[in-house]
Amino acid sequence: MSARIIDGKTIAADLRGKVSDAVHRLRRDRGVVPGIAVVLVGDNPASEVYVRTKSRAVADSGMRAFDYKLPASASEAQLLDVVAKLNADEEVSGILVQLPLPRQIDAQKIIAAIDPAKDVDGFHPVNTGRLAIGLPALVPCTPLGCVLLAKTVHETLAGLEAVVVGRSNIVGKPVAQLLLAENATVTITHSRTNDLPSVCHRADLLVAAIGRAEMVRGDWIKPGATVIDVGINRVPLEAGKFSVVGDVAYAEAAQVAGAITPVPGGVGPMTIACLLLNTLRAACAQKGLSAPKM
Ligand code: NAP
Repeated sequence: MSARIIDGKTIAADLRGKVSDAVHRLRRDRGVVPGIAVVLVGDNPASEVYVRTKSRAVADSGMRAFDYKLPASASEAQLLDVVAKLNADEEVSGILVQLPLPRQIDAQKIIAAIDPAKDVDGFHPVNTGRLAIGLPALVPCTPLGCVLLAKTVHETLAGLEAVVVGRSNIVGKPVAQLLLAENATVTITHSRTNDLPSVCHRADLLVAAIGRAEMVRGDWIKPGATVIDVGINRVPLEAGKFSVVGDVAYAEAAQVAGAITPVPGGVGPMTIACLLLNTLRAACAQKGLSAPKM
């Protein structure tokens, strides 16, 4: 068997196109222009690349992008001050503080200071709690992207046996909550799970969010299963070069799975598309408008 490749690039481009159209209509019919503030503290090169990519995507979608850059030496109080100003700014529909933050700043304190209605990363405890108890919430972008990709394969996720490998607050836990909300039967696994290969082998839908290059092998996968690989791992090659691989051994897994996301080009592009979607939803909610269906 050779798995269908879930083309995240194309699916994300389609979603971004729909968000752009909705932004255009919102501006034309209601005079509302969603805006997102991206706050970067310090000069972590990976974060700078992410922030540049995000800002470009925001501008391409017709939304406003407000970029804030603070030095690596910025204090927690300075960052809290920026967040308070953005909370109060009506032109800002969504606030994203790029993580990780320098050591002197408590990330949880910053996340908790963001207005939950503008929390387009979906990390605020209010949104986390709302997701957990089944209320409408802004939900984290990468997990949302995983679920949207799975739904391109399965008309409904209801009743599927879903196994999530990884329990981080950023990916594993929220993706499990979203799958539960879709009525999948969800198992969350982690580094202390006994006999992980057997647990994975039960999955109709396997989500790998581990951060370990190609850890999930082909023989862990149930024939015909859908595999969503969240991992992004840099593997060194010769002469200072590197390649990027997922948490799933792709070549092996593609022989067994029914559908699989590649790395790169699977979950990654969905993250930014879902950030735009969240910002659009946040802007509509703040203006008392119902969010356009996607
Ligand atoms: P994380 O915070 O390091 O969490 C990793 C999880 O994997 C933890 O729950 C850990 O278990 C579990 N784990 C580690 N080793 C394991 C093992 N041997 N067996 C079973 N479970 C194991 O990572 P993360 O932030 O969730 O990110 C996961 C991956 O997704 C990374 O490669 C990251 O780069 C990628 N990522 C991609 C995107 C995207 O846009 N595509 C976005 C976010 C993250 P314990 O809790 O027991 O330690």
